[in-house]
This record gives sequence, C-alpha cells and structure tokens, in this order.
Amino acid sequence: MEFNLDKLIRQNVKTMKPYSSARDEFEGDASVFLDANENPYPSAYNRYPDPHQKKLKKKVAEIKDVNENQIFLGNGSDEVIDLLIRAFCEPKTDEILVPQPTYGMYSVCAAINNVKVSEILLTSEFDINVEATIKTITPQTKLLFLCSPNNPSGNLLSTKSIVELAKNFSGVVVVDEAYIDFSKRESFLTKLKDHANLVVLQTLSKAWGLASLRLGMCFASPEIISVLSKIKPPYNISGLTQDVVLKYLADGKQKDEAVKEILTQREQLAKNLGQLKNVTKVYPSDANFILAKMTDAKQIYKYLLTTGIVVRDRSTVLLCDNCLRITVGTPVENEKLLDALKRL
Ligand SMILES: *Cc1c(COP(=O)(O)O)cnc(C)c1O
Repeated sequence: MEFNLDKLIRQNVKTMKPYSSARDEFEGDASVFLDANENPYPSAYNRYPDPHQKKLKKKVAEIKDVNENQIFLGNGSDEVIDLLIRAFCEPKTDEILVPQPTYGMYSVCAAINNVKVSEILLTSEFDINVEATIKTITPQTKLLFLCSPNNPSGNLLSTKSIVELAKNFSGVVVVDEAYIDFSKRESFLTKLKDHANLVVLQTLSKAWGLASLRLGMCFASPEIISVLSKIKPPYNISGLTQDVVLKYLADGKQKDEAVKEILTQREQLAKNLGQLKNVTKVYPSDANFILAKMTDAKQIYKYLLTTGIVVRDRSTVLLCDNCLRITVGTPVENEKLLDALKRL
C-alpha cells in the first residue's frame, strides 16, 4: 500500500510557520545572552533549555542504535501520542483506529482533539485480528495504535501481524513499546528501515524507573520526526529533565539489574497468584505487570485497599471481566499482596 507522508500531514500543519525560539535565531558562540528575556542572575535554571535536546538525542541514538534525526523526545510518550494525532488527524473528519482493550490515552488524546476513535476487538488471547482490522480501515483512518506488549493484558502482539498491518495501511502505524524492555522479543526499532509509515514509542517511565522526569521517546523516519518537531512546544523537555536523564542514561547497568530482578519477581508472582483460590486465571506477561482474573475483582480490589494495597481494577474493560492488573513490586511488596489475598 502506498504511503504518502505529504498527503497525510494536515494542511494547516503543512503550511504553518513554526515558532522560532530566541536560541534558534543566531549561530556561533555567544557569551552575552540578551535575547530571551531571561533573568541574568544565575541560578542553576535561569536559562531556557536546548529546544532540540541535542546532547540527550546523541546519547539516546547511541543506546538505541538509530540516527539522531530518527528521534523525537516528548514530555512523556503521552505528549507524543497527542502530537501524532494533531499532526495527522483533521478534527471532526479523520479518525484513529484502536484495537481494544488497550492503553487509554490514545482515545483520550483523540477526544481532546475532537478526532473520532474507531475500535476493533482484540482476540480472546489479546492478539490482533489482521483481517478484521484491515476491514475497519477507512480513507479517514490516519493512525493505527498498536501497544506491544499490550497494556492492560501484558502480552506481545504477533510480529507478523504488525508487519502485515504496516504493509497494508496507507496511514501511520504506531507501535507503543512502553514495556519492551521487559520482553525478550526484539524491538520494532530494527524494522524502521523497512516501513516508512512505522512509528515506535518507548519511554523512560517503566524499565528505566524515571516516570517522574517525563521523557517519552519516539522513533520514526526523519520526515515524520520533522513534522512532530515542527508542532511541538519549543521547550517541551525541561533543562532539569535533560540534565538528570543524561546522568541516568550513562549507566544502563542499573536499569538492566532492575529489569532482571523485576522479571524474576514476575515469574514468582505469576506462579504464586496461580495457586490462590480467588484467582481463576493468570495471563502470560511480557511486561512489568500481570493481568489476573479473580473470583470477584471489585470486592477483592476494595478488600486490598483496606490492607493498604492498591492495584488496578480493570474489570469494566472489554475482555477483562473480573480482572485486576497488578504491577510487579519489590519482593516485600509482592509478599504483602499474596499474604493479603491468602487471608481473604
Ligand atoms: C505507561 C505507558 C506509557 C508511558 O507514558 P509516559 O507518558 O511516557 O509516562 C505509554 N504507553 C503505554 C502503553 C503505557 O502503559
């Protein structure tokens, strides 16, 4: 299927002039900065940060083995999701396609932008039905959001199916890999070169343990990246975040160790949950959480709260009847959860 980026970009986005920040309007090494109405008396943060996050992108490029011009950084992946919709979907006219159940922010961002959400059900194993998905695509469908590993089910979507959809869709396929570090499966980053319409989202909020810093990473062709850069708020990544993230990225070992421990705990927790009489099914997980079907999710959710333990009640979500989504915690936290469930 023909992918024509130029035709896909909203007309107003194509013709608009982006904001030009003070720091964009000169070249060379200045030492007296009287261009941005900053306070000249130094604090650690009196200057505006680099709007292009050059140092940070260089480091991310190194870690992810991509070019710097294939990277867009957002104030969390949530900002990237919003910008993708704003770049490609004309309000009241275009739509996004979202296989359900999945992460809620795709639909929320679409609603904020007055963009229609077209939904299709995942299979009972929470995988995509390629044929049905393709049938749901209309000329107005501009974005297809695929979350793999999927939230809240925890499973990976079939690689073959994602590839097939990328080949058969003339819009943009967004593969949200927020949890990919908890999976043995290779990231879709390696497939960017094969599909001009592929966008891969990752985040520092989960495996890297930096949710509070708000850094989402988007990988795509330089052309798609340029569109996002054109419409982003100029200083969307704070100087504090850029500095601190660079420090953490310098030591990937810390992340690897945390992931390793979480994976050990995940297997343990899954096994132990499976032996409880108030748990009727434990779904396989490639993420840092487990979806578990309970005898009575609502009641158990409330009971857990009385013991000071909060999990996510997903029982009203499609295909998730009586399900709780449980994040893998520390050994002590997981033990507390299991103890509480045993006492019920
Ligand atoms: C947690 C999560 C994110 C992360 O969003 P940030 O804004 O980067 O914190 C993105 N996608 C999915 C599916 C998630 O579960």
